[in-house]
Amino acid sequence: MGWLDKNPPQGSLYYQRRWVKLDVDYLRYFDNDKEVYSKRIIPTAAITGVTNVGEQKFEVVTTNRTFLFRAESDFERNEWVSVLQNFTRGRQEGSREITSHSSMTPGSPLTPEQQGYLELRGLRSKLYTVVSGDKVFLYKNMEDYRLGIGITSIDMNVGNVKDTDRRSFDLTTPYRIFSFLADSEQHKDQWVEAMREAIGEALSNSEVANQIWAEPSNGCCADCGAAKPEWAAINLCVVVCKRCAGEHRGLGPSISKVRSLKMDRRVWTEELIQVFLLLGNERLNRFWAANVPPSEALSPTSCSEDRRRFVSSKYRQGKYRKYHPLYGNQEELNNALCINVQCSDVLETLCLVFCGADVNCSTGQADCPSPLSLALAHNQKLQAQFLSHNLNTELPRSEVTGAMEPQHYSPQHPVTHNGFLFKTASMARPITERKAREEFSRRWCMLNDGNFSYYESDKNSTPNGTLKSTEIVCMAVNTPERHGYYDHTFELYSDSERIYLFGTDDPDSHREWVKSITKTFIPSNAEGLLRLAFERIGRLRYKDGLNLQSPRVGWFALVGSSLHAYLEDSVEEEEIHLRKLQELSIQQENEVLVLVERGRTLYIEGEKKLDFQGWCVSVQRAAGSAGDSLSQQQLTETDIPVIVDRCIDYITQCGLTSEGIYRKSGVNSRVATLCEAFRRDARSVRLKEGEHQVDDVSNTLKRFFRESGEGLFTIQAASAWLSTPEESRKICQYQLLLSQLPRVNKATLRALVNHLYCVQRFAELNQMNLHNLAIVFGPTLFQSDGKDYTAGLVVEELIEHYTDVFEVDEMQLKRQLDEITAIIKASGSAGDFICTVYLEEKKETTEQHVKIPGSMTAAELTCEILDRRKIQVREKDYWSCWEVSQKEEMERPLHHLERVLPIIHSLGTDSHLLVKKHLAMEAIRIYLASKVDVSKHGMVKFREEKSILGLGLNTGSFHDRYFILSTVSLRMYKEVRSNRPEREWQVKNLRVYLGIKKKLRPPTWYLCCDTQTEMREWFSTFLTIQVRGHILSHWLL
Ligand SMILES: [Zn+2]
Repeated sequence: MGWLDKNPPQGSLYYQRRWVKLDVDYLRYFDNDKEVYSKRIIPTAAITGVTNVGEQKFEVVTTNRTFLFRAESDFERNEWVSVLQNFTRGRQEGSREITSHSSMTPGSPLTPEQQGYLELRGLRSKLYTVVSGDKVFLYKNMEDYRLGIGITSIDMNVGNVKDTDRRSFDLTTPYRIFSFLADSEQHKDQWVEAMREAIGEALSNSEVANQIWAEPSNGCCADCGAAKPEWAAINLCVVVCKRCAGEHRGLGPSISKVRSLKMDRRVWTEELIQVFLLLGNERLNRFWAANVPPSEALSPTSCSEDRRRFVSSKYRQGKYRKYHPLYGNQEELNNALCINVQCSDVLETLCLVFCGADVNCSTGQADCPSPLSLALAHNQKLQAQFLSHNLNTELPRSEVTGAMEPQHYSPQHPVTHNGFLFKTASMARPITERKAREEFSRRWCMLNDGNFSYYESDKNSTPNGTLKSTEIVCMAVNTPERHGYYDHTFELYSDSERIYLFGTDDPDSHREWVKSITKTFIPSNAEGLLRLAFERIGRLRYKDGLNLQSPRVGWFALVGSSLHAYLEDSVEEEEIHLRKLQELSIQQENEVLVLVERGRTLYIEGEKKLDFQGWCVSVQRAAGSAGDSLSQQQLTETDIPVIVDRCIDYITQCGLTSEGIYRKSGVNSRVATLCEAFRRDARSVRLKEGEHQVDDVSNTLKRFFRESGEGLFTIQAASAWLSTPEESRKICQYQLLLSQLPRVNKATLRALVNHLYCVQRFAELNQMNLHNLAIVFGPTLFQSDGKDYTAGLVVEELIEHYTDVFEVDEMQLKRQLDEITAIIKASGSAGDFICTVYLEEKKETTEQHVKIPGSMTAAELTCEILDRRKIQVREKDYWSCWEVSQKEEMERPLHHLERVLPIIHSLGTDSHLLVKKHLAMEAIRIYLASKVDVSKHGMVKFREEKSILGLGLNTGSFHDRYFILSTVSLRMYKEVRSNRPEREWQVKNLRVYLGIKKKLRPPTWYLCCDTQTEMREWFSTFLTIQVRGHILSHWLL
């Protein structure tokens, strides 16, 4: 800064003495050195050239205006020119579109919160005013704003905004009062609000940001170099600008956890700030950006496209990072990590982690099993802080999405193998028939250098055909005798849509070939699959989680009823239990196999038709029941055979008032048909009121138990169950026996006894009391002839002592019985229950009257309403059914599997059901997908409604409390450090509602979060726990 003479642009002869200031962002001049507000402010980004014009003068050139200055001496002038040139050169090199760019965004890119003309008192003309970030800029007119040449900027950290009149307001600073007059009252309100926000922003930021910027290299964006970056990736430890932060966010929280230095104040613990000061952008870039080709480097003016590419290359792929000497050696990396976290070198830890060291590896020490605990034990808080933000970070990987890159196929060991095999002509359709001996020809086969070739004989040197390992997409290993003359065969599927069938008589040779060939085409990162006794192995494309756009490549192997997979971005093998899938279907004209399991949906697509067809058939077969024992059935996720679950559910919905239920027999042929349908594919059987008869279903269930191999109590244990224990030790004895049952049997017994307990609770309606049920079920479950009552007695006692033997939660049981009562009440009230449901909002024209059968789920109701209104469901539209309470001003989205009927009966007169889109669903999905464990904790405001003398008066106010939500309970602590919770609730007994308006009157108690996001996170966690992870599967399908 300094004094300069400036000539007025009109060309007047007189120079005016001006105080001129130059910083990274702006060149400003003032009337004198005491003045705070400039006469002119020129963003350095708008300066296109600075030239020497002789006589101590120099020109500052912008797109359409030139400013002439004169210094005291040539020396001084030269100094100004060189500094100015330095400032502007960097920017111009970065971008050719500087002119167009700077005309849109004067100075450092302005993102105006509010802009327009305002009258400034004391001035005749209006000024074009822009509120941006923590500043207010004044321009002579809009044209000047576009060009970036302003009058002055007002820092709002010292500002105060006051309404003075209907249309006018004052912006007061210690130096001057700016009295503005807006066009209208409404405009004035907008201006006042925008300026107040700017003040808020100016005040909120300083603390953390200033601390972080104390490390000089944190003063520039780690990616593009822009000044004063206000964002950070807290796991990567880099400080970045707003625009780069946007690209970081695009990588997803598993790669970059983006937080604001200004707004996310709570995340900035003292330790985290220390980590950022210790590391700093410069040191970090020596790791992250050790090898950036100049052509790929960013500048502050780079376009979004370039930014996206750069940020993704840098952090998602780790393309520019400096490789750690131990890179590729997992064990050594882990070892080095464990040692290093005990000292203070966080940078080294970061290098290790982002070169592959496993943050969750085992340290081999019982008292500190993980690197994090090790760091804590050695009082390395900064190390611990870094590790804790990277427990679930996805590591950089070189492969780019979906592309079939060579490294997928490079086998770890060169494989060679040769010998005779019998081969049929290759085919372009699935092999369904058995091949005769004549169709096979003896061929000399060689596996060498990644090629599998077959020759006329071992004397020939030219192969009849060759399959490159990269061409093989799948191998199927057939069961003996499946394909004809030769017992042991395997099929190879090529990417040119052909199937090659090879056979041999020798099981050892067969095994050897299968092993060798798979080794050549299964990549080393999926070689875990090779140890399995698979019937089919190969690569498939898949989509899951948040990546529904572009399919990625995974390696799969089918073993029994399990599908093992190595998905693209995970090192761990995954196992999908096909019999426990909630849904398995082939969609989009046989091109997508949809596997819905707990917590997620996996979409598998074939790369090629032929092998995919084979996969579909095998996977479907593997997902069906394998035999007649309990554990061989298709199971629910709680390990109950689907057939048992469906029958019990149906009887609960439709059969509890049916007289003589379980004693009366159904129609034999219909029962046989049902049993057969369940045996074929239990998951696809939907029992429906009206379509199925209660007694047929009850007998299907009985027949299943009677005919199941081993029986419910297992053959080995049955006699122990039947030997009546002493009265005093009865409960213990049953509990002991129960604990010895296999998992599936235990879960099934529990579900069945719970059901029978409910049945007999309504004995006055169905005439089936404890004793009657025991007579029926004793022989059925023990598969005995029922000549004596021993079996019946066991069943009778299990039902009678249900709550003790199974340690049942009374609250839950009560809720279950209440629900049943509601169902019975509904079915008793002449015919079907008709309910009014609204679409999108409650008004007469959106009314729909819907018949609600007992079995109807929220998803079915939603579909019905959308169908009637002919509404097309688009992707990412999450239509759902809501329970809305007007009086309490709150709402609750029903889970799609929730039954509607019991809810209708619990609705008060001021509540109704509404079908509308779940707008936050996408955010919920993203949040949940980024989480590994289902729990949450944090400070939340809490208030409990106590009604005084039943008058329903509001009492009490909000108090800050610390909450911990786990899969079982919600605990409330007075403060973070409290040891004992003040209150505790069972999560499954809670109903969680969302407040619609700011004020709400809750029925019992309610929690209030600071932000919408916080609330959404709590709510999602509740939801996930309560529905046991179903949420991510099709919300509506
Ligand atoms: Zn940047």
